Amino acid sequence: MSGPNTSYDPVEVSALSPDAVDAAVTEALAAIEQAEDLDALKAARLAHAGEKSPLALANREIGALPPSAKAEAGKRVGQARGRVGQALKQRQAELEAQRDERILVEEAIDVTVGGPGRRVGARHPLSLTIERIQDVFTAMGWEIAEGPEVEAEWFNFDALNFAPDHPARQMQDTFFVDPPDSGLVLRTHTSPVQARSLLQLDTSGLHKELPVYVAVPGRVYRTDELDATHTPVFHQIEGLAVDKHLTMAHLKGTLDHLARELFGAAVTTRLRPAFFPFTEPSAEMDFECWVCFGKDPGCRTCGGTGWIEWGGCGMVNRNVLLACGVDPDVYTGFAFGMGIDRSIMLRNGVSDMHDIVEGDVRFSAAFGMEI
Ligand SMILES: [Zn+2]
Repeated sequence: MSGPNTSYDPVEVSALSPDAVDAAVTEALAAIEQAEDLDALKAARLAHAGEKSPLALANREIGALPPSAKAEAGKRVGQARGRVGQALKQRQAELEAQRDERILVEEAIDVTVGGPGRRVGARHPLSLTIERIQDVFTAMGWEIAEGPEVEAEWFNFDALNFAPDHPARQMQDTFFVDPPDSGLVLRTHTSPVQARSLLQLDTSGLHKELPVYVAVPGRVYRTDELDATHTPVFHQIEGLAVDKHLTMAHLKGTLDHLARELFGAAVTTRLRPAFFPFTEPSAEMDFECWVCFGKDPGCRTCGGTGWIEWGGCGMVNRNVLLACGVDPDVYTGFAFGMGIDRSIMLRNGVSDMHDIVEGDVRFSAAFGMEI
């Protein structure tokens, strides 16, 4: 080393003095050692190895030293920074290992704990009721038939003895299928399946021979607005029996049985004269009101009449039998059509059709989880 540079003694540069460097290292190592977590270590790194740390400042001052002093100072500071860097690296590894271990414990999943649970779906009461009705009829030896929902006007009206000028054809409640001369309607009742069954044209694929006992559940359409008691799409159960010697007594017995199966053994029914083109004689079947039994003029269930309308029925009109190629002098038949939606509303006290139409699973669930 050439003679001391009295104007600039590196030892006099405080940041570069061995004591200062050692002190900075000691302080840094203590801070690193005391860092309890990765955040604390990050702070220690910034304070003791960052750009403004004492060792970084010392490093920068080396540049100002005379060449003769640079090497030694550089070595001293370099070693010091190396020690601090090594300590940081080691502590970083330790703290990461601790963190990983803690996460494994804290975030462990107990697979034996029950889940939050998922709601089970529910079948719609219409589906349940239709199946229940089908069970009632198959138990009596009846067949279940189906027919198309887009139906020929002929089956919907003509075959059922609706005269060409019958008001029902003009009624505003029939959906006619475009074009206007297509001869097709959305069936307004399930009764066309009566004719299809007799003509072996129903879509069940069954080969019908007399006698015929068929029950036909299905959708029907009317141009009603959806409100509390009406819906443009609803469901009927149609029944048709054609055999020798059938009478109104068989009709009433069959419907009484269905009523008891659906509404309970205590239900009381009555037949009330009515008119339908396709049956003669015709009747409406009513229940006795099970809320007031006719004793409350203000009863909301029956409107104070004591009776609740259920559906229409009657003996198959001779003209219908003839139209279907059945000899009305040998065979007689009875037929009926009951609203299924209405049956559910009556049976379960459902006061608003919206509940049935909207398909809210909470509504369906109230009817049980029958499968
Ligand atoms: Zn009543």
